[in-house]
Amino acid sequence: MDYLERKKLQEELKDIGYKQEMLDSWQPKVDLYWHKDVISATGGDIIKPKGSVLRNQPGDPATLANLGRRGALSFPPSETCVCKHCQLESKENELPRDKSGKFVSSKTE
Ligand SMILES: [Zn+2]
Repeated sequence: MDYLERKKLQEELKDIGYKQEMLDSWQPKVDLYWHKDVISATGGDIIKPKGSVLRNQPGDPATLANLGRRGALSFPPSETCVCKHCQLESKENELPRDKSGKFVSSKTE
């Protein structure tokens, strides 16, 4: 991989939600987690719900970028996930607000 390809891939992985170091520490085989519901091509059926695991995938950066674009990342989705799929979803389901319009946190600290 030449410098420009590497740079481009790194930008893309970062955009998807991966950390910068990832490109130098990838594993040959990884388990990936869906960060969105995967809908069947023929209709509205959810074939893989968000959070389900995609086992034993090639872990090279090019494959991770490719699968990452489709919603599968090497860490599980969470409330605080910053990947673009989770971000998009949290934008779609606006956070609940109380009567005064303030955000209501579901976390108890
Ligand atoms: Zn996510």
